[in-house]
Amino acid sequence: MRNHTSFETVPQGEQQRRVRRKEINRRQLLLRPVEVEKLVDLDHPVRAIWELVGGLDLEPFFAEIESVEGVAGRPVWDPQLLISLWLYAYKDGVSSAREITRLCDYHPAYQWLTGLEVVNYHTLADFRIEHKEALDQLFIDVLGVLSHEGLVTLQRVMHDGTKVKAWASDKSFHRKATLEDHLRLAREQVEQMGDPESEELSQRVRKARQRAFREKQQRLRKAMEQLEHLKARRSELSDKEEGKRRNREPRASTSDPEARIMIQAKGAYGPAYNVQISTDAQAKIIVGVGVGQSTDAGELEPAVERVEANLGDKPQQMVVDAGYTNQETIEAMARDHIDLIGALAERRNSRWDPLKWCGKSPEFYPQAFTYDAGKNGYRCPVGKELLYEGEERKGGWLHRRYRARASDCQACSFQTQCCPGTRRGRSLVHREQTVALAAFEAKMKTSEAQQIYKQRAGVAEFPHAWIKDKIGLRQFRLRGLSKVRIEAVWVCLTYNICQWIRLCWNPRRWVQA
Ligand code: SF4
Repeated sequence: MRNHTSFETVPQGEQQRRVRRKEINRRQLLLRPVEVEKLVDLDHPVRAIWELVGGLDLEPFFAEIESVEGVAGRPVWDPQLLISLWLYAYKDGVSSAREITRLCDYHPAYQWLTGLEVVNYHTLADFRIEHKEALDQLFIDVLGVLSHEGLVTLQRVMHDGTKVKAWASDKSFHRKATLEDHLRLAREQVEQMGDPESEELSQRVRKARQRAFREKQQRLRKAMEQLEHLKARRSELSDKEEGKRRNREPRASTSDPEARIMIQAKGAYGPAYNVQISTDAQAKIIVGVGVGQSTDAGELEPAVERVEANLGDKPQQMVVDAGYTNQETIEAMARDHIDLIGALAERRNSRWDPLKWCGKSPEFYPQAFTYDAGKNGYRCPVGKELLYEGEERKGGWLHRRYRARASDCQACSFQTQCCPGTRRGRSLVHREQTVALAAFEAKMKTSEAQQIYKQRAGVAEFPHAWIKDKIGLRQFRLRGLSKVRIEAVWVCLTYNICQWIRLCWNPRRWVQA
């Protein structure tokens, strides 16, 4: 008997009346028929995911399966199921294989997918990272479906990066000496574990510990390699931001050696990766995804290559913010005949005046110096020559440096206003003005280009907000650049499928069936 009724006496005036309440019986045992097909509604998104994945070519996933008929071995889970499970989980904001396994036990959508079976979390975790090429192909195939629906045109692509926290803490970053200590300790711990055949620990516990120590050693060695890589990179870099850090000893994380300390939302610094997303403006579909370890500078050309690899064609127009626009990028886009729309970095930093900060008077700002093309030099406000000294590349710009003679400046009565605190002569940096750069600057002054640029944030940042707020990718669950990229592709694939469900999916097929 399921429903019990209890009575309680309630005073009611002079008489008492008894209220009947339903009681909860948690000691009962039920046997109920479950019609799996009816676990989810006909218009439930899990059906859309199953339908879309089932219509794609999953041969690359099947090609890697060794269990075949006629040969001994257990059957494996259908890739269509594992892909659908991961896509539905990401759509629901779940990125843990263990959590999916738990959900298979009681959540109707997961039960409908698996037919009331439970998929082991090891199987799910391995599947997520083991099919990199097949996953890339799946991403391309879904783009093909979206293109067929007219949601991707490549006429205008907006590109931007977003920082996503790495699976590491600030405290896991160490200098070389500390990493060497950690590595020595890890080796000693492995040695102290003694005879692997010892009976003191169960075989399972012993193997788990050995694996944990082995992985720790691998991460420490990787961190040491990354330190060397960082040192080499810093010695090459000469731009202002890296220049400040050049003299500091680099640090690498023992949790995720390939993560980098980056500035994130609200100016906070922390270990992160820079996820680069190209979004087609037609329906805000992601047409390319990459993961970087540095700033946005230099990321636009690889982004264009990714879009071309995915869709067989380059975008007609790319729209980016000031983090991407520099001389190298502007010229590369002009070479590829891509219409680049973007802001220049100077505008972004216009509130900070570095010349004023280092004590120069406005009368001696660069515009007061005149360029003499014949002599390839400048002339200062008092008529002294600044001669060509050399050129260097900084943050994608070619800088030519000119310098006055030290004797001229030391004898000059305006030295404290022109070049205070330097014994060398006044220097001037000239950014080369190429044809492509001049054309870009002229284009960006037109109202048409400015109107297009105003649309950038609404399109480029839409998928960032979706993948962080709806899919929940605020921190990667995987470690290392390669695995992090795989997770980013899963998330962007989920995002695109969500857009397909939102804009194209028609559940009538299920209703009619
Ligand atoms: S300090 Fe040197 S560069 Fe500046 S005005 Fe005097 S001579 Fe010219």
